[in-house]
Amino acid sequence: MPPSGPRFQYNAASGLLPKGVGQPVRGSIETAKEADMITGGCLCGAIRYEASGVALGSGYCHCRSCRHHTGAPVAAFVVFSAEQVRWTSGKRARFESSPGKFRAFCSTCGTSLTWEGHHDGTDLIEFHISTLDDPDAFPPNEHTHYREKIAWLHLSDELTRYESGMY
Ligand SMILES: [Zn+2]
Ligand SMILES: [Zn+2]
Repeated sequence: MPPSGPRFQYNAASGLLPKGVGQPVRGSIETAKEADMITGGCLCGAIRYEASGVALGSGYCHCRSCRHHTGAPVAAFVVFSAEQVRWTSGKRARFESSPGKFRAFCSTCGTSLTWEGHHDGTDLIEFHISTLDDPDAFPPNEHTHYREKIAWLHLSDELTRYESGMY
């Protein structure tokens, strides 16, 4: 069940929360560890990245675009502002999946690396948690675009389910 209380408005009709309601405040996300530096990269090792400071959030995304970009039934992201991120090796390819929203990948091995776009005055880079060297460091904190979830995928966590998302 979604959490109750003033921060959340539960939509009884859909059973889902509209995105933008009850969002955690940036920088206060309990599961986003403060890290001096997180690192990750693609399967072949050509592309490497690092990010520093506190992550802005983490979550699952069930949208169709994420599923196609990853080939997986659900994607999981950890979010940073672009200023926190440094690409330390290789050059990522980017596909504009919707206007101003990009999905980056390695053009050699095909690893899906990021969602990138502008939101709320900030340039964001969301890394697929699976590409981190230590994916255990960032457990997803919420579900977005839950309305698009694949029917046979069953998840028993009690994280908040948002019906949509920012993309
Ligand atoms: Zn690669
Ligand atoms: Zn998505």
